[in-house]
Amino acid sequence: MTTKTKYIFVTGGVTSSLGKGIIAASLAKLLQAQGYRTTIQKLDPYINVDPGTLNPYEHGECYVTDDGAETDLDLGHYERFLNVPTSQANNVTTGRIYQSVIDKERRGEFLGKTVQVIPHITDEIKNRIQILGNSGDYDIVITEIGGTVGDIESLPYVEAVRQLKWELGENNALVIHLTLVPFLSAAGELKTKPTQHSVKTLMESGVQADVLVCRTEHELPEDLRDKLARFCNVTKESVIQSIDASTIYDVPNLMLEQGLDTIVLKKLDLESNVPNLDQWNAFLQRHKNPVSEVTIGLIGKYVELQDSYKSILEAFIHAGAENEVKVNVESVHSEYLNGDNAKAMLSHLDGVLVAPGFGERGIEGKIDAVRYVRENNIPFLGICLGMQMAVIEFSRNVLGLEDANSTEMNPETKHPVINLMEEQKNITDKGGTMRLGAWDCEIIKDSIVDGVYNSKIIDERHRHRYEFNSAYKQQIEEKGMLATGLNPETGLVEIIEITNHPWFVGVQYHPEYKSTVANPHPLFVAFVKAAQQHNKKK
Ligand code: GLN
Repeated sequence: MTTKTKYIFVTGGVTSSLGKGIIAASLAKLLQAQGYRTTIQKLDPYINVDPGTLNPYEHGECYVTDDGAETDLDLGHYERFLNVPTSQANNVTTGRIYQSVIDKERRGEFLGKTVQVIPHITDEIKNRIQILGNSGDYDIVITEIGGTVGDIESLPYVEAVRQLKWELGENNALVIHLTLVPFLSAAGELKTKPTQHSVKTLMESGVQADVLVCRTEHELPEDLRDKLARFCNVTKESVIQSIDASTIYDVPNLMLEQGLDTIVLKKLDLESNVPNLDQWNAFLQRHKNPVSEVTIGLIGKYVELQDSYKSILEAFIHAGAENEVKVNVESVHSEYLNGDNAKAMLSHLDGVLVAPGFGERGIEGKIDAVRYVRENNIPFLGICLGMQMAVIEFSRNVLGLEDANSTEMNPETKHPVINLMEEQKNITDKGGTMRLGAWDCEIIKDSIVDGVYNSKIIDERHRHRYEFNSAYKQQIEEKGMLATGLNPETGLVEIIEITNHPWFVGVQYHPEYKSTVANPHPLFVAFVKAAQQHNKKK
């Protein structure tokens, strides 16, 4: 199709949380649906080398790629929309940029020169943007610049965009600026001034926005579009409204109606066709017209924050649509759950998912939740820490190993049924040192997961330091909790399930990272199906 990769930069103004990631993913979907090989990259202006060391309270979920990068959760949206895996190259932070420039300086690569923000940091940013384009794998690279224009930490990125846009030349790069058009209820009016100021702030750095995407709670009237076009040096057709949607999966169609893809392709001098969204719309159709309903409990310690379990919530949306069932996810705070109130809090649920996590807070509640669902035949899915809690619960209450624990929570436990992996024992650095990314897993025949995956070898993404302690495998299996997925090289236990239970599965990996609109994750699909069956029996 195209010979030269074209670049689209997405910047944000006025306020954060306008949904740049969803706009970038929606535009990418429309371009992909016209046959353009498209990828999205996120540049984050903070100094952490990656978000792996950030608390979910600060940054929401940490998303993990096949190649083991710990990344911003927007990469999850990119994968869910495009169904194309992302990698380390798709998320770059200021910390990583500086780290590589400083490493080069120490190696003597700039010998004799003063190392400066311009050109050294900006060159590194430009290189990182072009890595994906130069791979030859993509016709279009969309680069989302995190943060808000005008922030001190965004400046080098905006400068890199200015230089690159100039170097790439006309029709090869463009800037989409996302802003807010607020509605002032006292005045009864939508206001354009914040957008005007934001576009000017961008111009102070020498960057002219080519397209404006305006987040709004109300339709933008024609005269207001005229006004924005006039004040912001863009054509009227380049003023696109992004009105609040009931689901993020509506945004590609909303952008299509507004002609975002057409205007972008025109400016990039690329042919514009009708995007084929058949599969996408079939998903939306199923998502919006469920024939039944289930309620699944999500047991975690960050339940008050939507973003902390983003990929899990999205995986339920995909699996729900696949089963034509509405999945209500009920958040249950593990710190407030115990053996006495478990029945009151869980008995009405059709399924229970015990969430991943780190540290001791809330784990006893998770263990009590596992006990309740195990004893009461409620479908269960345990992810990572959730799987580890299931092993601890089984060891304590079925094997009678009272003190059983993970050495993460109690290093002195007499029964370390979950313990540190051998290769983790000498690691002291916290950043980027876990077992990360895609690993193979061999499925044991005639298990629940054998029916779920229909494949002998699967690969799934990991992010943890602790593992099932194989010294306890035999005892645990004898009592009916089976290891049904093993890493073929190391023998590490990746999946456990219980035989005399309708549906009880724990996985050491994170299936939620691989669930997409086009490919709902089979484990979530099967779990939702089991919840449906439980619901029918009630
Ligand atoms: N804290 C556990 C470990 O490191 C589980 C991690 C997780 O749930 N992602 O092994």
